[in-house]
Amino acid sequence: MDDCVFCKILNKEIPSEFLYEDSNCVVLKDINPKAETHLLIVPKKHIPTIMEMEEGDEKIIGHLVSCAKKMGEKLNLPGYTLQINVGKEGGQEVFHIHMHMMSNFA
Ligand code: AMP
Ligand code: ZN
Repeated sequence: MDDCVFCKILNKEIPSEFLYEDSNCVVLKDINPKAETHLLIVPKKHIPTIMEMEEGDEKIIGHLVSCAKKMGEKLNLPGYTLQINVGKEGGQEVFHIHMHMMSNFA
């Protein structure tokens, strides 16, 4: 957790702008966007990967999806891709669960 970039962002040790925040998650722009719109939806709870989810954590993942819905409405996106990379072999680089929200619309 000490070395986790998203925990550092959440603790304001690294400056970042939140497009949305509630008691369970934040939304920020990906620093290296791979689409016209590329957001990261990050839960406040540090869970390294989907593989390490515990009982009750499914609520958090559901919350990330409903947060994406809200962002889609807020930004008027006609469509988007939601993606969670799982584990190093699954393309995950930051080991704090997060959902990518990508759209070719802005
Ligand atoms: P993943 O490969 O699913 O772990 O994705 C990690 C994502 O976090 C990558 O798309 C990075 O560009 C992004 N990222 C890493 N550091 C930061 C940061 N400080 N602010 C915003 N996005 C970041
Ligand atoms: Zn973390």
